[in-house]
Amino acid sequence: MDHFTLRDGAMHAEDVPLSAIAAEAGTPVYVYSTATIERHVRVFREALAGLDDPLVAFAVKANPNGAVLATLARLGLGADVVSGGELMRALAAGVPAEKVVFSGVGKTAEEMILALREGIGQFNLESVPEADMLSDVATKLGLEAQVAFRINPNVDAGTHSKISTGRADDKFGVAYDRALDAYAHAAALPGLKVVGVAVHIGSQLTDLGPSRAAFERIGALIAELRAAGHAIATADLGGGLGVPYNPALPPPPSPADYGAMVQAVTADWNVRLIFEPGRVIVGNAGVLVTRVIRVKDGVGYPFVVVDAGMNDLMRPSLYDAWHDIRAIEPSGERATANIVGPICETGDTFARAREMDRVEAGDLVAFMTAGAYGATMANTYNSRGLTPEAIVNGEDWAIIRERQPIEALIAADTLPPWLNKEKA
Ligand code: PLP
Repeated sequence: MDHFTLRDGAMHAEDVPLSAIAAEAGTPVYVYSTATIERHVRVFREALAGLDDPLVAFAVKANPNGAVLATLARLGLGADVVSGGELMRALAAGVPAEKVVFSGVGKTAEEMILALREGIGQFNLESVPEADMLSDVATKLGLEAQVAFRINPNVDAGTHSKISTGRADDKFGVAYDRALDAYAHAAALPGLKVVGVAVHIGSQLTDLGPSRAAFERIGALIAELRAAGHAIATADLGGGLGVPYNPALPPPPSPADYGAMVQAVTADWNVRLIFEPGRVIVGNAGVLVTRVIRVKDGVGYPFVVVDAGMNDLMRPSLYDAWHDIRAIEPSGERATANIVGPICETGDTFARAREMDRVEAGDLVAFMTAGAYGATMANTYNSRGLTPEAIVNGEDWAIIRERQPIEALIAADTLPPWLNKEKA
């Protein structure tokens, strides 16, 4: 459920008409709803109510805007980070270091130093060489890192291939069959304290079966690890729960269904559970508002050319993702069209042969469910400044990232000395 609703014929974010934000911020612009974020946190927490003190660490990659992170930090969430940059953003937003989990397959020594000095809660290691590097770094600093290994359970999550992370051939984690050796190795290293296990099999999961299968494997591994003498105190079950993008499809499992499954599978694990939800917290809490530049004839259907491009919202071009596309002030008429951006790539197509509200040049349109993996993946391709972001809270709203002016892009490039001389 979200707080983007039609009132008096115009889409509002909570109590603010989206057209008012577009008028002031220009388009395209991402708009987030605080009430929706808060609701999703509440629903996720309620789903875990039977668990003893779980840590909910928001996957910062889904939406790293400082205002979004600060909203979540105020609600008591921790952070799952995958880079030094994400760690710094989470800390700057007020997430306590001990609630930070550091995931990711390519942590560098510099990032490890930063995280150790800040005193983060847990490193999720993805390989034995990474354990060696962290041991070396921690020992030199005279610090101890609490570690888990991310296990690759060889389970196909049944989602888009590019966001599946738990198949044997995917780059993530330590192969299930090699886990005992990896733990024995890490336990013998100075500067590391083995505390847990971690798993994350993919994103936009619409079936609980693969997660259940992966978690059952993790449960069996915990028993084996304990039998081998490791004190396993935490189990990080990752993120991945899907959100409804397309109202015509059956909805993904609810947080309550997910929570019930987790509680059933983990009942006798005797660990502190960690969760890394991203999309389910912010996905439906954001929309991308764009304006129709013009409608162009097509052989089959007309092309509705909007001022947002694949650089602003990559998901359709990257993952063939489906976003609901709605007029902000619908006339009631429907039409079938191709929705495209202005970028010089055929991939800059948001929807083909889509039946949707009929729109004309100048109309505002919203890409729904754009709060996760939206603005954070935006780039400046075709020399377009990064899209601004705004957040609504009841009747209030504020810009939380300004549109990047083209001058800033130009100023970021520097000339080599020989071209500078020529200029002089
Ligand atoms: N944790 C890890 C390690 C991830 O790679 C991801 C994203 O794929 C997440 C959590 C968050 O996933 P989602 O946004 O689907 O909940």
